Amino acid sequence: MALRLLVLGPPGAGKGTQALRIARDHGVPKISTGDMLRDAVTSGSPLGVLIRETMAQGQLVSDDAIVALVRERLHDDDAQKGFVLDGFPRTVAQANALDGLLKGSALAVVEIQVPDEELVRRVRGRRICERCGTTVSAFDGDPALAQECKTCGGRLVQRSDDSETVVRDRLKVYWRETQPVIGFYEDRPTFRRVDGSVAPVDVYAAIAAAVASVSAER
Ligand code: AMP
Repeated sequence: MALRLLVLGPPGAGKGTQALRIARDHGVPKISTGDMLRDAVTSGSPLGVLIRETMAQGQLVSDDAIVALVRERLHDDDAQKGFVLDGFPRTVAQANALDGLLKGSALAVVEIQVPDEELVRRVRGRRICERCGTTVSAFDGDPALAQECKTCGGRLVQRSDDSETVVRDRLKVYWRETQPVIGFYEDRPTFRRVDGSVAPVDVYAAIAAAVASVSAER
């Protein structure tokens, strides 16, 4: 059965990493609005120029622009057999728009919960490979890891919006704009909550179990 999954949670909860694994397991694309917007900024497209500052400050890009981007992406061939959405929806308006786009198709929703202070610590330590996009923690083991990607040897860099000040602003935005999205979904029978403060492998197992339990109920 097609997997249509939303992974919700604050910045640093591990959404991207977990969404990628689940998507690979099910042979469906991971669709990350953050990645799509960063690509737009890097390519210098008209959208990229428009949203550069907004992203640098950790604020949300307009609902209209995001919904248009997601609408287009969900029409791609690879998304017809399912998808895992990461970083979308971030507002109730976006959640409503997504319901419209899906026209009643079943949607599983998983919220990853992590305490705020742990999020700040994780995001400050987060490094991304410039070349292959792998995410690693600068706090994990070998200090050499903080400079070089284990997967491809590329340079590890910090996202400009992962500085402590911007992270705190992003968390404020999360609690104000995105927490209500949890309220939008939490009464649905396909909603599950998992503890994101444990080891990534255990978070993954909890999400896989949540997805299986949602599928079993359908
Ligand atoms: P992320 O990689 O998901 O943490 O997203 C990075 C940044 O992209 C956010 O801080 C926002 O500026 C922007 N962004 C990503 N997804 C959305 C969305 N669904 N709605 C509005 N802005 C978004």
